[in-house]
Amino acid sequence: MGAKSKIVVVGSLNMDVVVKAKRPPRMGETILGDEVHFVPGGKGANQAVAAAKLGSEVTMIGSVGQDPFGHSLLRSLQEQGIRSQTVRVLPGVPTGVASIILAQEDNCIIVVSGANSHCQPEHVAEYQEYIKMADVVLLQLEIPLDTVQYAAQLAKELGKTVILNPAPAQNLPDTLLRNVDYITPNQSELELLTGISPEKEGLEAGMNQLLKRGVRHVITTLGREGAAVLSSGEPLVRVAGYRVPVVDTTGAGDAFNAGLACALAEQKRVKAAIDFAGKVAALAVTKLGAQPGMPTRAEVNCTFF
Ligand code: ADP
Repeated sequence: MGAKSKIVVVGSLNMDVVVKAKRPPRMGETILGDEVHFVPGGKGANQAVAAAKLGSEVTMIGSVGQDPFGHSLLRSLQEQGIRSQTVRVLPGVPTGVASIILAQEDNCIIVVSGANSHCQPEHVAEYQEYIKMADVVLLQLEIPLDTVQYAAQLAKELGKTVILNPAPAQNLPDTLLRNVDYITPNQSELELLTGISPEKEGLEAGMNQLLKRGVRHVITTLGREGAAVLSSGEPLVRVAGYRVPVVDTTGAGDAFNAGLACALAEQKRVKAAIDFAGKVAALAVTKLGAQPGMPTRAEVNCTFF
């Protein structure tokens, strides 16, 4: 391969505080847990790490607090070779935290956005030189919508490919959708975004609505079944998933989006890019943890699916 493809991620960084217990506590109750783990997370950071492991040159734009969690998250980005001078360290606000209780193979999660909710459009503007150099700009919805909108508009004005992973799902204005080349909801996000149920009204109806509202390609992820893509003027195409032994599906969507971003940055065509993303995500679900489970390029290339 020639020069590395360049990806800018504008998004969230969280510390996941994972507590394992035999059962969840009831309201007002204190129980003893079995294990605690501090795991770097946040959709933005997960996707940045996955793209870096796949060999892209990655810049992360986001914010953390001036606290030990923030420093630890920055270190974990740097360990993956991700440019992180573009992550602001904000005084007086805490680093984003996801507090996760794991019990009886189920979980409940409280996310406190902290510094992520202070990631403003000016912050993206300050680092636009990196967007100028990028092939692909990758966005999610764990930072303020204004900032996502600004980043998409700036990236589009600069002629970049924009991918929006609409998670967690919320209503999106058409002014944002018009600046998005690829949107990648899972089925429940598609329903939330469009008000159209894939089960009752078919997958294509919701995807079509997003196309009409200005997105160029809609890619719906379908868990182990893979994904489906609808591009303007073309029929719906399904791309099968890969059968693998599943260990942990946390971060499957993040792996998929990172794989898609890398493949598109390397000029792969849409269907081939989705197939590559499916391989990356399939390998990710065979391992525990979002960031540690992300596969390297060599693992993707050397796995016989
Ligand atoms: P999310 O994780 O965002 O809910 P999905 O569950 O649709 O999204 O998964 C995203 C992608 O990850 C899928 O399109 C597929 O490529 C891959 N994937 C998810 N679950 C599995 C699985 N059990 N086996 C193989 N691939 C999977």
